[in-house]
Amino acid sequence: SAEPGRPYRVVLLGASGVGKTAFASIFAGAADSMDSDDCELCGDEVTEKEIEVDGEPASITLIDTWDSETDSECMYERYMQTGDAYLLLYSITDRASYLRASELRITLRRFCPAQNTPIILVGNKCDLVRRREVSVSEGRACAAVFDCKFIETSAAMQHNVWEAFRGIVRQLRLRRDSK
Ligand code: GDP
Repeated sequence: SAEPGRPYRVVLLGASGVGKTAFASIFAGAADSMDSDDCELCGDEVTEKEIEVDGEPASITLIDTWDSETDSECMYERYMQTGDAYLLLYSITDRASYLRASELRITLRRFCPAQNTPIILVGNKCDLVRRREVSVSEGRACAAVFDCKFIETSAAMQHNVWEAFRGIVRQLRLRRDSK
């Protein structure tokens, strides 16, 4: 549970190549960003910054999981116990990454069983219309099964990426305010 003053820890999860690094770069690139730095404990890319959502500032620590290591169970366990919220990415051009997102959702449920943990299923690369392998309705249906929100984004076009971050903050605030 995030108390005032402590940044919300938001974790990027998803198969290799879906756009996690691109998301983290967009997040880090905005004007008042602090330096992106390697987390001493884990070697992951971690960026902390403040964004404004609905007129109120929110501090976010964004954790970009390392593909090379995310295959081990204990890495998952650690990620899934440290996050306050999760962006679960797949690429709309890669059905395998969509199936991977389902697996990750199940793993997340196992390691992070809190019912109200904010999760957004993110179908990235929506600019690549001719290479689409996963339809919008499949994404939506999957999110309904997962009991989470859904958004399609394009990191390349910077479309809906901030909307995804703002969506996470709104969910975290709803959870905070309902306590
Ligand atoms: P990661 O392995 O999840 O960190 O994925 P990356 O962020 O490294 O992205 C993998 C590749 O996909 C890179 O070549 C990116 O430039 C590209 N990419 C990421 N997001 C998008 C997107 O929204 N649209 C397009 N067309 N390419 C993207």
